[in-house]
Amino acid sequence: MDVLTPITYLPGVGPQRAQVLEKELGITTFKDLLYYFPYKHIDRSRLYYIHELTADMPFVQVRGEILSYEEEGTGRKRRLIAHFTDGLDLIDLVWFQKGTFKWIKKSYLIGKSYIVFGRPNVFNGRINIPHPDIDAADTLQLGKMGLQPYYNTTERMKKAGLNSRSIERFTGTLFTRINTAEFREYLPPTLLQRLCLVPLGQSLRDLHYPETSDALRRATYRQKFEELFFIQLNILRYTRQRQQQVHGHIFSVVGTLFNTFYHDYLPFELTGAQKRVIREMRKDMGSGKQMNRLLQGDVGSGKTLVALMTMLIALDNGYQACLMAPTEILAEQHYVTFREFLKDMPVRVELLTGAVKGKKKRTPILEGTRAGTVHILIGTHAVLEDTVEFSRLGLVVIDEQHRFGVAQRARLWKKNTIPPHVLVMTATPIPRTLAMTLYGDLDVSIIDELPPGRKPIETRHFWEERSESLYRGMRTEIQKGRQVYVVYPLIKESEKMDLQDLQNGYEELCRAFPDLRISKVHGQMKSSEKDVEMEKFVRGETQILVATTVIEVGVNVPNASVMVIQNAERFGLAQLHQLRGRVGRGAEQSYCILVTKYQLSQETKQRIEIMCETNDGFEIAEADLKFRGPGDLEGTQQSGVAFDLHIANLARDGQLVQLARDTANEILDEDPQQNLPENAAMWAHLRDLNKNDIDWSNIS
Ligand code: ADP
Ligand code: MG
Repeated sequence: MDVLTPITYLPGVGPQRAQVLEKELGITTFKDLLYYFPYKHIDRSRLYYIHELTADMPFVQVRGEILSYEEEGTGRKRRLIAHFTDGLDLIDLVWFQKGTFKWIKKSYLIGKSYIVFGRPNVFNGRINIPHPDIDAADTLQLGKMGLQPYYNTTERMKKAGLNSRSIERFTGTLFTRINTAEFREYLPPTLLQRLCLVPLGQSLRDLHYPETSDALRRATYRQKFEELFFIQLNILRYTRQRQQQVHGHIFSVVGTLFNTFYHDYLPFELTGAQKRVIREMRKDMGSGKQMNRLLQGDVGSGKTLVALMTMLIALDNGYQACLMAPTEILAEQHYVTFREFLKDMPVRVELLTGAVKGKKKRTPILEGTRAGTVHILIGTHAVLEDTVEFSRLGLVVIDEQHRFGVAQRARLWKKNTIPPHVLVMTATPIPRTLAMTLYGDLDVSIIDELPPGRKPIETRHFWEERSESLYRGMRTEIQKGRQVYVVYPLIKESEKMDLQDLQNGYEELCRAFPDLRISKVHGQMKSSEKDVEMEKFVRGETQILVATTVIEVGVNVPNASVMVIQNAERFGLAQLHQLRGRVGRGAEQSYCILVTKYQLSQETKQRIEIMCETNDGFEIAEADLKFRGPGDLEGTQQSGVAFDLHIANLARDGQLVQLARDTANEILDEDPQQNLPENAAMWAHLRDLNKNDIDWSNIS
């Protein structure tokens, strides 16, 4: 039987249901159905006594008989109750759909032995079982039913009469049609043995119909490992190939510019972590290899400065450098920072974004870049456009916040015969296992130390009703000469209401602090107006800045010591952490105040708690990944993962990611030419996977 047979040929499916399966779940072939794994199993081999039941049990089964029926309540609350006993105790079975009462009474007879299956519920302090499944006790062989699979279905499927039970029937039929023992294993036998992995066919069957929970666990393990393993094998194969074929510019000297900056102009001592990271990069860039490095570090840990100094090394060796930021505002901010740091040095820094308009402005920059007189070019991805030509581009720094994919990075080094070194900086720390997958082709450097003298920011949670005590706290800080940010969320979907919120908040602050000066900045203002207001705050003329998240990537005001985040429940963890990073840049104690409404979901409560407990961006990133799953990480493109994950989860299966990576490395060590016979099926499978996805091998 061919697993690529269209699903419509599976008995019981037919053209109409096939259409629904395709539309809702993307299932078109037998194979797709095979890989549509249940999200859970319920043990149907175990019977409970009524006295054992508790309300928090997900599902239970009881054997017994119905003593009598009774109807209760009126109108929509009308219900049918069956008093059911296991011989020792009593429990009520309950139905609410009035039209079915007659049929139920006729089908389930008083005094007959039944097995009742359902989810216990509490009503008036007593446990009952609403809408149970009921089977005659002599028709069920519980010992053989074992773990019953449950499949996710959509609302539309349910309307078309397809529920979990239907999918179960389909997969049941499928396994009578295909012989999983004949499935060709593609993982090498030695690997299966070493890692105690169950064979492919068995794992697929056990994922749907395991005989024991141990069999299910082993099957899950095998499939998860396999998914992560092929992703790692792909990345590492590509990376090794690139390292062999691609040479890098050799930056052999650390010259005048670097040394002058370091000794004469750097206003502070580098942290140990900054020094270590610069050393790591110098080593890469001097080696003849092309550097591809990911620089991670918390907000304010000094990544930008490290990037600048690395660029000076490129300049010292006669090369140009380029910095790409994800937004124009960020590019501009980098430009200002760089100009300031380098103002007394013979280095020409230029900015090229969409906002730099007109031939008169752009032409000299483009010409200078082509001639090599522009040493550092800062911009958005506009610098990737073909009109931008460098004379000798030696280093590209990408300040990316997850926005540039592998393919975009690859475009950089198509322009030159010898590609530039590449440094990717992430503003939001990424958990290690996610980095290994999204940026698995990069080496990683970490700045795990903040510049000295920074006091950890104190984070507190306030209910919005308690504005008086919040205002008291703000006043205390302002009287010490400090400044305060008050931030409101703003998203497109609710823009009008969000702006109204901000306006109301602004007016309330004006009333509460009639003696103070308050700035207001939001996206609807003209950018010239915005600049004026921002400037006032930067110069300390206004004490409070009320703003939407535009300031997330905006100003740097060391004198601001309080960050008040209104409607904090509407921000993600990563965003909250970014915003908090705006204060705490000076030496004084800083505060972050998270203001929320009183009623919060469990998850939001946890988010707020984590924020109050830790300042560590890596810890926050881990938590964020757990809450949201890697697919919804802010700004993260799931396209960064080469192949679909059916069952593995980058958040929960971190240890497996590491094992998969180590194993892939070992295989590549043993079989660098990819021609060992015992691995042939594995390489063929990798090629098959790549056919359906990006062909990474073409990228370099
Ligand atoms: P990041 O890019 O990681 O957010 P930045 O490079 O912007 O961090 O640094 C944050 C602030 O700390 C900047 O004002 C920068 O000048 C300053 N800074 C960077 N490194 C040090 C250091 N070693 N000692 C003191 N201040 C530093
Ligand atoms: Mg920065």
